[in-house]
Amino acid sequence: MDWDIVIGLEVHAQLNTNTKAFCSCKVNYGDSPNTHVCPVCLAYPGSLPVLNKELVNSAIKLGLATHCTIRPNSTFARKNYFYPDLPKGYQISQFDDPICYKGYVDIEVAGKEKRIGLTRIHMEEDAGKSMHSESGTLVDLNRCGTPLLEIVSEPDMSSPQEAYAYLTTLKQIVRYTEVSDCNMEEGSMRCDANISLKPKGQKELGTRTELKNMNSFRNVERALIYEANRQKEVLESGGKIIQQTLLWDEQNGKTKSMRSKEDSHDYRYFPEPDLSPVFVDEAWIEKMRKLLPELPAERKQRFIDSFSFTSEDASVLTSEKEIADYFEATLKYFNNPKLVLNWVRNEVLRILVDTGKNISESPVSPEALAELLVFLDKKEITAQTAKAVIDDMTKSGRSAESIIEEKGLKQISDSLELESMINKIISDNDVIVKRYQEGETKLLTFFIGQVMKISKGQADQAVARDIIIKRLG
Ligand code: ADP
Ligand code: ZN
Ligand code: MG
Repeated sequence: MDWDIVIGLEVHAQLNTNTKAFCSCKVNYGDSPNTHVCPVCLAYPGSLPVLNKELVNSAIKLGLATHCTIRPNSTFARKNYFYPDLPKGYQISQFDDPICYKGYVDIEVAGKEKRIGLTRIHMEEDAGKSMHSESGTLVDLNRCGTPLLEIVSEPDMSSPQEAYAYLTTLKQIVRYTEVSDCNMEEGSMRCDANISLKPKGQKELGTRTELKNMNSFRNVERALIYEANRQKEVLESGGKIIQQTLLWDEQNGKTKSMRSKEDSHDYRYFPEPDLSPVFVDEAWIEKMRKLLPELPAERKQRFIDSFSFTSEDASVLTSEKEIADYFEATLKYFNNPKLVLNWVRNEVLRILVDTGKNISESPVSPEALAELLVFLDKKEITAQTAKAVIDDMTKSGRSAESIIEEKGLKQISDSLELESMINKIISDNDVIVKRYQEGETKLLTFFIGQVMKISKGQADQAVARDIIIKRLG
């Protein structure tokens, strides 16, 4: 029997606001436990939450970036559950009137575009963190009350590969809007994946399971592949899928049951009486719209249109806003898109991997790269030399000009100088000269290779080639 796979994802993005969602405690990952707490986030009786406006700003920005409708008045709700790292016994969240709804994200899988619907984006606060060790469990409440946006997709994805593409694209958009850094290791982007199977073509959805505890997009993809196969086996052997929450066990590569899945009525949602509704007018929305940068899909298309780049090249350049910014900053100093593209793709990105740095802290600035490429473009240095120079720039932080000057790396196109080099090569290799003159013309590359070797890569190949051909007859 053939099955359709149905996947919907819930993504939590932790916002990079200065302070928490409902108090003025700092948001700072990695500080010592319980140093950023106050009566509000510790749930002292009588304390009252005050909404952080930056949380609303972030929600509007991300909502606009994902084509959502922004709700003019939305409210907060209490989601009740007991957990040791949730002192209030409830989480402030939004329930039936989320601030953003009905959006979409366009993804691309194997060259094909697909639109994935967003059901909603809502504002909520995070819980604290339980740290389990052999001697027991410790609770750190620094994270308690930090602001989150939960982005809920429609069940529109039909393969684990689409889920992976969706997550990558969503992360890119979130990072462009700069509301979160989406650092998976620090847990600032987390994903719950819902998956079900149904007989091919059937309208009605099957029973879903929910996968939790995945710390990378590749793990989400792997877990979904595993879970799709598991469900298929259960269904084909006449069994039923139980709606439940599963944990992905990375070590053993399988899912295991965590708990039966609660329904929303289990949370006893009710309106948060301590916070007034959030009213967002057109002026506020417009203000946020103006703060949005050009988004990755538009920027990619513009690069394709105005520089005639391939879709793949444009994707690489726009994968991160900072890379695209770096590229365009370099163009301001040296307007040769193709050459700059090649050097950013092949050299700058390689250097960043080698040095473990972010492009915004690149050891070679856009201006410095442009200066180097001008030398190359004017044929004052060879491509081989330019690669050595950029490595030197990375290590020493010096400018291309000073390295080229000091080491005398300028390209040698002076015919007299090249001629004397070639004369020496000819007299040192009379056997090969003879073979060449007897018709083995492919030996020309040997002579050019010798010139490049003796000149340490600085000889102008075209000039050298002409001289060699002339001298050998
Ligand atoms: P909950 O918090 O109870 O998991 P949400 O409505 O927040 O509920 O999220 C449900 C997620 O599960 C959405 O992303 C939705 O697209 C997805 N989903 C719902 N039904 C199915 C199904 N039958 N198969 C796969 N995914 C589903
Ligand atoms: Zn606090
Ligand atoms: Mg869920």
